[in-house]
This record gives sequence, structure tokens and C-alpha cells, in this order.
Amino acid sequence: MDSQGFREAAATAIDEIAGYYDNLDDRNVVSTVEPGYLRKLLPSEAPVEGEEWTDIQKDIEGKILPGITHWQHPGFHAFFPCATSFPSILGELYSAALSGACFNWICSPAVTELETIVLDWLAKVLGLPECYLSTGPTRGGGVIQGSASEAVLTAMVAARDKYLRETVPLEQFPEGSEAREDAIAHKRSKMVALATTATHSSTKKAAIILGVRFHTIPVHADTNYSLTGPVLAKTLADLRARGLEPFFMTATLGTTDTCAVDDFAGIVSTLKSDPVHPAGSPGELWVHIDAAYAGSALVLPSVQEQVSISLIENFHSFDMNMHKWLLTNFDASCLYVRDRNWFIQALTINQAVYGNKASEGGLVTDYREWQIPLGRRFRSLKIWFVLRSYGVKGLQEYISRTIKLGEEFADQLKSRPDLFEILTGPSFALTVFRVAGKEQGKSEEELNALTKAVCEKINASGRMWVTSTVLDGRFAIRMVTSVRTTEKEHVDRAWKILVEAAEEVLKA
Ligand code: PLP
Repeated sequence: MDSQGFREAAATAIDEIAGYYDNLDDRNVVSTVEPGYLRKLLPSEAPVEGEEWTDIQKDIEGKILPGITHWQHPGFHAFFPCATSFPSILGELYSAALSGACFNWICSPAVTELETIVLDWLAKVLGLPECYLSTGPTRGGGVIQGSASEAVLTAMVAARDKYLRETVPLEQFPEGSEAREDAIAHKRSKMVALATTATHSSTKKAAIILGVRFHTIPVHADTNYSLTGPVLAKTLADLRARGLEPFFMTATLGTTDTCAVDDFAGIVSTLKSDPVHPAGSPGELWVHIDAAYAGSALVLPSVQEQVSISLIENFHSFDMNMHKWLLTNFDASCLYVRDRNWFIQALTINQAVYGNKASEGGLVTDYREWQIPLGRRFRSLKIWFVLRSYGVKGLQEYISRTIKLGEEFADQLKSRPDLFEILTGPSFALTVFRVAGKEQGKSEEELNALTKAVCEKINASGRMWVTSTVLDGRFAIRMVTSVRTTEKEHVDRAWKILVEAAEEVLKA
């Protein structure tokens, strides 16, 4: 395909994509194909001769779209959204066109510099404390990672390195000595990463990958599924009594099940008065804030205040996925650290082939030192396009609108206490509920079975998709209203489908 061929093919592709969005609501939300459907439709070998674009393009509608679950569909109320928007798609297009493995500044100065600038812009929009800005007092800054899972892994690597540096003294165990290797190996066997039962599984996965111990702190309905300071204090004491060394914890702003927010003030106060490694002293607990989904709502000053975002200046790293709720397509996980040296010290390995004058001059950022892979994509472009196209006001309007849809849906649930019981929320456009019946003497098992039946029935409609969870043994439906294309009419449609399903299931 030459540039003229590209011009023509791209025009038809863009036209088809725009049409897809115009008619998205006509499709079933969830793909209904059988496993293995595609193997039956495609040849078993790659073509020997190149094919015409028109032939390739027609297989999108005929072969690929049937196997797509439409995450941008207005009836998509499952999991959390996986955002996109037209400005973001355009950013992706330019990024692909300017493709490179831009790991060092010199590999494309614009790639590095735009990333630093837009992440500073974003930090200010979200109200993050100054220490997370690249221009802040502690030389912090942001880096775009592929996912929140990669972000927590990166933070945990840095936390492990910092903890070992601070607690295996160089005077006693000199650099490069066998004694140091032994001391580090022994300490590693005692190090434990913490999370709660509501924390996303990516923290556990990071601990497994790093080969450190992992401890789960139970949280329940009594604290609205959030971690409190006293519970953390007791956990630290119990682990240390067993000879273990807590070095890392993920606290969450918007948990996956219910959008709970951990008690930042309580955690800060517990860590300040920690009897072994008080905050700010060598060996302090590294706190990573996982705001993968709900972090987007920080565009609203009222949310910044509600969650006391200024308190995160006491923590070490913060991550949010623009690709969940902030109109930017996968992948755009924005990870911030309070002191860039924590990443650089843990992740820099020099190899002659990557040496260059700019890096050696020390005046540039080389993002390969802030991440696990070497190569990196030009992801800041789509963030830049989104921030400029929507403006802060546009982002605030969008987030407020979707939160309001969630509140209106929860009001509808409350209007039918004979059918539904809200378990949590609405919180950040997520409400978690189940079928009512406790007052009529229905057992937990019966309620679980009825709620499951309602969940299956509404999803079978094809018009909407919800996912479920289990809270303290209670099966519950999660209803999310934050997909960009979802409007009031779609939430009202979902409500109608839900009421009909619940009435039928309860009658049966
Ligand atoms: N953290 C939270 C709170 C999440 O809800 C999720 C996924 O939904 C993740 C982390 C993992 O996100 P990613 O797919 O970016 O790794």
C-alpha cells in the first residue's frame, strides 16, 4: 500500500468506524459467538500473495464484529468502562504513524517531553499534591504505563529496592560483598506486601511475580469495605510479631467490587505513629494508591475534597487509568511517584548500546528507567488530544453527567424496596444491589439464587450487560453508568428490563 492507497483505504476505514458508532445501539452488547468461531471462518495459512484492502476491510463486519463485545455500547454496564473518544482514536492513529521504541529522550524528544508535560497537566487537573509533579519540590513526576497492573508491579519493584537500601546498611554489608548478597536474600524472604480483600488482584500478582510474601487484610460491610487506620496498625503489629517485614501496601481509591475508598487519614495517622518504621524514616511502608477507575472523578474539585486527595503527599505512588473513565483508549495508565529516583535507582541498567550524549549529560528524562519494558509507545499524544479537545470543563461535565446517571439509577432502585436492596453506592457511578426479600424471611441462599437468576435474565436481553460480585457471601449485581455513549434513555431502558426480570423471577 503506497501513500495514495493509504489515503483511500484510511478514508473508508474512518467512515466505517464513524458508522459503527452511529449505529452501535442496534447491536447486541455481548458477542454471542461460540468458542472457536473464528477458526472456522479464516484460512489455516497466511496468504502467500498480498490481498486488496477492500477484501480485508469487508472481513471486519463479516468476521470480526460478530466476535466483539461492544465496550462502547450504551448498554454496557459491566466491570468498569474501557474508555475511548474520537480525539483519542486520532491520537492513536498518529502514534502508529510515528511508531518508534522511544525509550530514551534522544529516541524522539517530543515523545518524552510531551509525556512529562501532559502528565503534569493531568496531575494539576486531578488536584494531586505538588510532590507528584515533575516540577515539584521532590523531583517526582508521572509516566504512562500500559495498565494498572504494570503500574503496581513497577511501584512494588521500587519499594522493594528502597526498603532493602534503607534496611541493609552499607557500613555493615558493603556493596558487592557476599555478606550483602546474603543479608538481602534473607531479608527478601521476610518481606511482605499488603492489600485488603477489596484490593484488585493485580497487587497479589505483583507480589507473586516479585517473589515476595503477600498478606490480605479482611475488610467488611462494617467499614463499607474500606481499610481503616486501626486495622492497619493491628496488621503491622501481627506480621512483625511473626518475624515478617511489611514493606509495601496498596490502598485503593475506588475498589473494583464497590468503589470503596480506603481511609487515607487513618492510614496516614497510623503510619506516622508506627512504632518500628514511622513514615519518613528508613524502612517506612511504601503506600501505592490504586485509583485505576475512580481516579478520573478527581477532575471534580468536590471529589478531590471528598477523598482528601491532598493527603496522598504522605504516600509514595499514585496510579489512575485514563483508559477506564477519562475518554482515552487503552492503554493510558498514568503512574505518579513522589521521588523519581526511587524508580530510577531500581530500574536503571546501563548497556553500552543505549548510551548517548543527552542521557549522559543528565538533563533529560529517559523513561526506560521508570518502567519494566525497554521500548515504549507514543501514548501521550492521545492524552494531549483528549485534554485539549474536551478541556477541563468538558471532562468535568462528562464525569458529572455519568455520576448523575448512577444516582438516578440508585433512586429508581430505592423506589422499589419490594424488589431491590442496595448493598453499596451509588459511588462513582457504580451501584451494587441484590433482589430484596430479607424482610419476607428469604434466606441468604435464596436471595443469592434469585439475584443470580435476575442477572442472567437481564443479560440475556442483549440490550444491556451487567456483571456481578459477591460481598460477604452475598451475590450482587454491579451496575455502572459511566460509558461515554450511555445517556438517560439507556439507563431508563436498563431499569425497565431489570424490573421486568425481577418481577418474573420473583413470581416464578
Ligand atoms: N485496580 C482496580 C481498582 C481495577 O478495578 C482494575 C481493573 O478493573 C485494575 C486495578 C486493573 O487494571 P488494568 O487492567 O489496567 O491492569
